[in-house]
Amino acid sequence: MKFSASSIILLAATIASSSHAFAPSISSPSSLHQKSVSTSTSLSSSDSSSSSFAENAITIASSISSLAGQTVVVKYGGNAMTTPELATLFCQDVATLQKLGLRIVVVHGGGPMINAMLEKVGVESRFEGGMRVSTEEVVDVAAMVLSGTVNKNISSGISQAGGRALGLSGRDDALLQCEKLWGGSEDDKIDLGNVGQVKVVNTDLINQLLDAGISPVIAPIGMGCKGQEDESVVYNINADVAAGRIAGELKAARVLFLTDIAGVLDKEMTLLKSLSCDDIDDLIGDETITGGMIPKVTYATDAVKLGVQGAFITDGRVPHALLNEILAGGEIGLGSGEGGTVVTL
Ligand code: ADP
Ligand code: MG
Repeated sequence: MKFSASSIILLAATIASSSHAFAPSISSPSSLHQKSVSTSTSLSSSDSSSSSFAENAITIASSISSLAGQTVVVKYGGNAMTTPELATLFCQDVATLQKLGLRIVVVHGGGPMINAMLEKVGVESRFEGGMRVSTEEVVDVAAMVLSGTVNKNISSGISQAGGRALGLSGRDDALLQCEKLWGGSEDDKIDLGNVGQVKVVNTDLINQLLDAGISPVIAPIGMGCKGQEDESVVYNINADVAAGRIAGELKAARVLFLTDIAGVLDKEMTLLKSLSCDDIDDLIGDETITGGMIPKVTYATDAVKLGVQGAFITDGRVPHALLNEILAGGEIGLGSGEGGTVVTL
């Protein structure tokens, strides 16, 4: 894969001259609910000396050369889509990374948008362990919002930014085949309705699109497994579950979960920069990790166990979070390691 020096320098210049946050960190106590984040800068951005410019350019060039031709799965959380401006920057990041030769797969959520529509049409829903309990009515609304509105906003946003993208749901070409997912524990199962656990991913379709230079933008709505009794059931899939399983099945180089908080926090609200698979169960067990963070860490772990080299949970409300996280990793490329949480084996 060939890259022109000018594109690397242009990117380096963009990031080096950027005055906004590069890497979020928690430097003062903050509440999970306030989701307040103070910022610091990882790539040298404050002075314009040529040496820091060159350092940044070297880091960026190393990141690109280590990830060119590799697959990166990005989960774009509904809660990170706070403003249209942020969404535009996200789409620009995808288009830029495509141009740099990375194979980007986008899996999106849309929780707040689904909530707004449920309210509008007067359908109630609730969460169990971070999963939305999904009656047929709830799935209908989720499918309409995710596959209809959110999915097309992202795929067309990427196209407008000069990239190529195709919006799909997991029901297209049997992309995501599911089994019913139960909540609770083995001994105390909770019926979540038509919530799906992804069993089969049509990786051929994803790879064919990527080979053609097209990023699949995937709405996490699935079908039952082919040939099974529930083949025609429409399943609502938590987007973290979908992204983790897709990354694992693709043996992606990276999976990034862009969310609305700096990363995984401990009970003192301090950012946990790195977590191993063994840490996760304890942190869920003692309720350090709750709600929507549970599927994120669980399926980040799942992906890593299936061979994904690095899984990151990071703040998607930081402008250009995706580009920053990918380009600041350098040779080893395990993300910036500055903002967010890295999940390893
Ligand atoms: P998304 O749309 O990105 O999936 P969610 O709301 O489902 O967002 O999940 C992120 C939320 O998880 C955070 O905003 C926070 O409220 C919650 N959370 C629970 N436990 C933790 C934790 N230990 N660290 C960080 N966030 C946590
Ligand atoms: Mg969530």
